Amino acid sequence: MITEYFEHPLRERNSFHVEESVARLVEFDNKNDLDVLFAEGNAPEEWYILGGGNNILFTQRYNGTLIHPVGNKIQILNEDSSLMTVEVEAGMDWDEFVCWCVERGVWGAENLSLIPGTVGAAPVQNIGAYGSEAKDIIHAVHYFDTQLREHRTLLNAECRFAYRDSIFKQELRGRAIITSVEFTLQKNACARLLYGDLKKEVEAKGEATLENIREVVCSIRRSKLPDTAILGNAGSFFKNPIIPLEDAEALQAQYENMPIYPAADSDYRKLAAGWLIDQSGMKGYRNGNVGVHTKQALVLVNYGGATGHEVINLAKEVQHRVKEKFGIAIEPEVNIL
Ligand SMILES: Cc1cc2nc3c(=O)[nH]c(=O)nc-3n(C[C@H](O)[C@H](O)[C@H](O)COP(=O)(O)OP(=O)(O)OC[C@H]3O[C@@H](n4cnc5c(N)ncnc54)[C@H](O)[C@@H]3O)c2cc1C
Repeated sequence: MITEYFEHPLRERNSFHVEESVARLVEFDNKNDLDVLFAEGNAPEEWYILGGGNNILFTQRYNGTLIHPVGNKIQILNEDSSLMTVEVEAGMDWDEFVCWCVERGVWGAENLSLIPGTVGAAPVQNIGAYGSEAKDIIHAVHYFDTQLREHRTLLNAECRFAYRDSIFKQELRGRAIITSVEFTLQKNACARLLYGDLKKEVEAKGEATLENIREVVCSIRRSKLPDTAILGNAGSFFKNPIIPLEDAEALQAQYENMPIYPAADSDYRKLAAGWLIDQSGMKGYRNGNVGVHTKQALVLVNYGGATGHEVINLAKEVQHRVKEKFGIAIEPEVNIL
């Protein structure tokens, strides 16, 4: 079923809570609705997919059509003694899905607890936290190709997953509407406790059970990240920069405490954007309605009443300061409209 809204306010549909609006918003709960929506001669000229709006910054009224999936069914496709494959509709709340996995005792999603958003958005930037990424459990992604007007499927290897990236952010950007995602989950315990804080706190609780890991991840996240219901934000505003190994080593020689992490390519290293912003003197910086969060420098916040432009101007200031101090360009992770 398709539900349409016209001249719709977006304040409650974006986690920054900026006061923008959209000409037309279409909700759909079945993938076949998209055949109707994109029927020849009928397709919207300008459109964009809106999930939970946790990774989008609206900087103006959106004059086209926002398409919002609401179908949220979970179906078990296969199950044996060691694996379970499930198909989850795009409109399912991501954390509800993680909770479903933990309750059924299947492993793989627990480190990604409490990441705000929908299941359909998870493959787009290959969401990740605490040493796990969505790509580790995604088996296949089903989507509607708006150019070919047909439903298609990509297997994990075809999705070109990388750090906060996938084919859906590249070649299929503005073309694919993800309708459901298949995940392969493990029945045997396989805790991933690569992050110091997580390991320490899970050990302090006792066994590395699914419930304990989920609880610890949620509690660390709640202590570090501002609640979007209270303080508008989109989580990490910038991606961690990936730079050539020799540049990373040269910087580390200059800044002994600079954290450096391995990157997918061994000739490169990942730096912590939050540390770079902090060391550039921007943590806790405030300019009118917007600021850099006091506890987590990677998070830009709306203290109330901010426009998208105010957030963008702050982001530019942060980028400039980091570039000036370290010579490194940090790029937004957030989608700017
Ligand atoms: C407090 C906070 C903490 C966060 N922590 C993390 C974190 O730890 N790790 C992490 O990776 N991210 C994190 N994020 C970012 C955010 O949670 C993820 O990007 C999430 O996947 C966004 O989901 P959404 O449904 O809100 O997507 P939206 O913000 O609505 O959309 C994001 C992008 O995906 C596209 N999209 C959405 N749904 C579909 C679909 N069905 N088909 C095709 N394209 C689609 C949109 O067009 C847009 O380009 C955080 C955000 C917040 C606010």
